[in-house]
Amino acid sequence: MSKIIDLTGKKFGRLTVLGLASLENSVTFWHVRCDCGKEKVIRRSNLYGGAKSCGCLKIESRSGYRFGRPPSPIAKQRAELRKTYSPPNK
Ligand SMILES: [Zn+2]
Repeated sequence: MSKIIDLTGKKFGRLTVLGLASLENSVTFWHVRCDCGKEKVIRRSNLYGGAKSCGCLKIESRSGYRFGRPPSPIAKQRAELRKTYSPPNK
């Protein structure tokens, strides 16, 4: 378990690994740069656990569909429900 897998140059979503930042108790922390230009240090397990941006991705997908996928089925359902419940005005 002491072997360090070099992630330098790898991409995780928007994050590009610049190099090893630190090693603590056999947990590696990696210096990454997001496509938006922000740099941060992130734990290896977070990279594999689904971290795909410095946090900007979440903010963007919440505020619009610019980078996001189409709305999830649940969101669509909710929109449908809202339509159903809104009283007709005409
Ligand atoms: Zn970012």
